[in-house]
Amino acid sequence: MKLSGGCLCGQVRYEASADPVFSGNCHCTDCQHASGGPYAPVMMFPPNAVNTTGPVKYFASKGDSGHVIERGFCQNCGSQLFVKLEAVPGMVGIRPGSLDAPANFQPDLDFFVSSAQPWDHMNPELPKRQRSPQG
Ligand SMILES: [Zn+2]
Ligand SMILES: [Zn+2]
Repeated sequence: MKLSGGCLCGQVRYEASADPVFSGNCHCTDCQHASGGPYAPVMMFPPNAVNTTGPVKYFASKGDSGHVIERGFCQNCGSQLFVKLEAVPGMVGIRPGSLDAPANFQPDLDFFVSSAQPWDHMNPELPKRQRSPQG
């Protein structure tokens, strides 16, 4: 399965040449701010698996994990598209809402649920992690 996607205005496009190694929903406070929603879904891909074209800008901040997270977005329309994690160099995450076929996203778990808002209604069938996906 080859996944592709892009931003709202169409200036940024991407293609993944490998399957995701992790899929989940991050409920940390920074993801709430950056996304404007209760959580940010993410699919992580192995190094060099995601090819992008177009004007992507990255914003770096220190997350609840204590590690730096870079969030990439289209410079023109602001769509949240990519994630890079200091803790796992080389890996690129994509925001599955930007996929051409978003139904292909299947989250494995919810993480940083300790920061989740009362109006964040989660799938009870997914495993929950209080903080990072590792536990
Ligand atoms: Zn755009
Ligand atoms: Zn997060």
